[in-house]
Amino acid sequence: MPNLIRRYFVSSILLGVLLPFGAFAQTAAPQASSPPFTLKPLGHDIYAAIDDAKGDAGANSGFVIGENGVLVIDTFENEAAAKQLLAEIRKLTKLPIKFVVNTHYHLDHVAGNAVFEEAGAVVLAQRNVAAWIHTENLKFFGKNIKPEQKALVEGLAAPAVLYDSGIELILGSREILVRVFPGHTGGDSVVIIPDAKVVFCGDLFWRNTLPNLIDASTEKWMKTLESLQSLSAPVTYVPGHGEPGNAHDVEAFQGYLADLRGLVKKQIDDGKTGDDLVGTVLPAIKEKYGQWNFFGYFAKRNILDVDNELLGTKKIPQPAAAP
Ligand SMILES: [Zn+2]
Repeated sequence: MPNLIRRYFVSSILLGVLLPFGAFAQTAAPQASSPPFTLKPLGHDIYAAIDDAKGDAGANSGFVIGENGVLVIDTFENEAAAKQLLAEIRKLTKLPIKFVVNTHYHLDHVAGNAVFEEAGAVVLAQRNVAAWIHTENLKFFGKNIKPEQKALVEGLAAPAVLYDSGIELILGSREILVRVFPGHTGGDSVVIIPDAKVVFCGDLFWRNTLPNLIDASTEKWMKTLESLQSLSAPVTYVPGHGEPGNAHDVEAFQGYLADLRGLVKKQIDDGKTGDDLVGTVLPAIKEKYGQWNFFGYFAKRNILDVDNELLGTKKIPQPAAAP
């Protein structure tokens, strides 16, 4: 099942088509005994959980152990991976899981929420996550979404505590800052642990990996990346996808967005459209970023998303009305 969700998630975004459900039934891996992620200690009782090379967890996660409880950042793309994360946390501490922060609504970051909620955690997120978790996630399954897929999305455990621009969380003597920044979806949070100089960026940062721009506003996103780089160094940045990195890696990712925007804008200015535009921009970004993860999946889609954004024709999720 994890593989099915992952493949639907990726294939629907990238290929724009849905393959028949049964096509993956034979390829779904049996439940692995080892976790589908690698735990990376970042010091100060902070761990990043980095998705394995096959993408079986769907995205990265992480957690912070304080003196009186644990904070989890994102819950993977399936409950099996979330249960394995909970088991790994339990090997390190018996303290309660107090909080879960969803960095944004995308399925690959929230599908294990219920696992931690059942373990006693309160799930928090920016207000738009609650509005979009059960609606916008449906699009990743395409027009012919099956009833069981619709039920999966509609049954996701939504955040119970909502904030607009950020919130502070206290774990004993440790103060954790949650701050909202624009760019990836319009409801993205980063989790900053000042005493350890660690920042969990969610999908506002992809390290050596092409991003999903389906909901993106890349101009605002580049400003967000500048803000993140301005934090007093040295900071460890945990991305939503890829290995933890430093400010130079964040700068490189910002460079990708800048290069992509620049190349697409030039083609628009030259009157190019559609396949013509893609055919010119694709080789140019391949030369510099062809070795990045997900290039084959996202490159063409990234070009089209930025084309639509620059033309003013891109549809992005609309913020929830204020209560
Ligand atoms: Zn995302």
